[in-house]
Amino acid sequence: MLKQRGQREVFCGLTGIIWLHRKIQDAFFLVVGSRTCAHLLQSAAGVMIFAEPRFGTAILEEADLAGLKDAQAELDRTVEELLARRPDIRQLFLVGSCPSEVIKLDLNRAAERLTQTYAPRVRVLEYSGSGIETTFTQGEDACLAAMVPVLPSTDARELIVVGALPDVVEDQMVALLTDLGIGPLRILPARTIEDEIAVGPNTVFALTQPFLGDTHAALIRRGARHIAAPFPFGEEGTTAWLSAIAEEFNIPRALFDRVTEAPRRRARQAISQAAVPLNDKSVFFFPDSQLEIPLARFLTRECGMTALEVGSPYIHDALHGPDLDLLPTGPQISEGQDVDLQLDRCRAAHPDLTVCGLGLANPLEADGFATKWAIELVFTPVHFYEQAGDLAALFARPLRRKSILKVAAE
Ligand code: SF4
Repeated sequence: MLKQRGQREVFCGLTGIIWLHRKIQDAFFLVVGSRTCAHLLQSAAGVMIFAEPRFGTAILEEADLAGLKDAQAELDRTVEELLARRPDIRQLFLVGSCPSEVIKLDLNRAAERLTQTYAPRVRVLEYSGSGIETTFTQGEDACLAAMVPVLPSTDARELIVVGALPDVVEDQMVALLTDLGIGPLRILPARTIEDEIAVGPNTVFALTQPFLGDTHAALIRRGARHIAAPFPFGEEGTTAWLSAIAEEFNIPRALFDRVTEAPRRRARQAISQAAVPLNDKSVFFFPDSQLEIPLARFLTRECGMTALEVGSPYIHDALHGPDLDLLPTGPQISEGQDVDLQLDRCRAAHPDLTVCGLGLANPLEADGFATKWAIELVFTPVHFYEQAGDLAALFARPLRRKSILKVAAE
């Protein structure tokens, strides 16, 4: 495995707010940051900020930054105004950012102080979305990891499924697990604080997202046990993920086959149609979302592609091991990034498809490479059986577009 620690090209963890604010319905995300952070959220989240204001930015002006004591008072005042105006807020996340003055600000102490002031009506937590400390999917990890220590304790044997999924996908997953007779089942993040989950030594948990390393560690610290499995992308990944949980709950194989047979067949059919343009094509992953290893497994084993390099910002054995074990031998696996060296490797390998962040996509397209934006894979419903065909289609689209442009140019 190649490990690189050079310059990297990724979004910051604030980006996670864009999907988390939709998922946790009684939460508000208050970014303690600069005007740059406010611009990022406004431009990335676009219309939503006006349609459903569930996040905002406490911009610390230069005068506040001159004295940290003033910054704390400014933060308290902003929170007081916000909570007076918005009685629907039950969970408030203070989200740290990059400016050095914000990094110096003790948000942990601020969250404790504000929790004491506003409990039990509002719970105040904090995490960092700073671009210095986090890549874009790590924002969700940091948010969920911040929730774990304050979850109530339980001795009950329960399953927690961890990861923010679109509601429709989450409902499909719950239906599958329920049909298998698996439960009690809890979801982290819960949709509201009223659906609060508890954790303890008899809790087992499964992850739906491969970027939840800190949340995994936080749950282990609370005594919970991880059910290791490939991630539920494609027919094979979904079946392996469900099967690992079914084994943990001693579900008979006949029941498992009966429940999964029809959706498995639908997924295989959808993939075989959508993956036609992907067959015998090569793919090169730049590190971006931490979804790279499970997606490379899906593309190579279910869509007929060859992986040339699979780069991931971080590789955790406990999370990515089951997918790595299934990945065919051959691709260079790389962790971290030294972007110029990796661009050289990509140009030399000349893949049919490159999966990368927005910052690299334009220069690569200008050089004639077909690219897929990694961020789209996080914003689009791609998990479990019913989305397996859409997942293959997402990768097929840039190849189809390139061949149409080529025909038009001839
Ligand atoms: S957290 Fe840092 S990288 Fe992200 S928008 Fe703010 S200043 Fe930029």
